[in-house]
Amino acid sequence: MNPIRIGYGNDIHRFAPERDLFLCGCKIPCRLGGLLGHSDADVAIHALIDALIGALALGDIGHFFPDTDPAYKGAAGEFLLTSTLSHTAFAGWSLGNLDMTIEAQEPKLAPYILPMRENLARIMQTDISRISIKAKTGEGLDAVGRKEAIKASCVVLLIHNQPDNNQ
Ligand code: MG
Repeated sequence: MNPIRIGYGNDIHRFAPERDLFLCGCKIPCRLGGLLGHSDADVAIHALIDALIGALALGDIGHFFPDTDPAYKGAAGEFLLTSTLSHTAFAGWSLGNLDMTIEAQEPKLAPYILPMRENLARIMQTDISRISIKAKTGEGLDAVGRKEAIKASCVVLLIHNQPDNNQ
């Protein structure tokens, strides 16, 4: 049997009116602006990266990409995701599937679900059928509901291509 690993990640970033909004590497129009962060603050990709890193017990996104490192100032989510997957520990592992939920009171994300799935499939070099993205509002509650922030959470399943490698 091929070894499998599961990983979970979540993240939250507050809105910053002067910035552009990026989710899953897609620039999404939003009257509230973008998200605050050292990088481009792509909260969805950050949650995905933490899930990937967690699946292999490699630490967390802050360990891989310290927010004190000027090299990652303004860094795009796509760059961080491809950098993560290029880590030698991911050799031999491929994505079984990922399931992500993005929580945003604004903007409405329904029109962008397919482009976000397509973009993650492209970056991760996998089939779109392995990528699920769901969007929820904050129901007017908590920081998301008050339109102060966007949250994301993600589960990934990784499958190793070599059976019985004792991973
Ligand atoms: Mg983050």
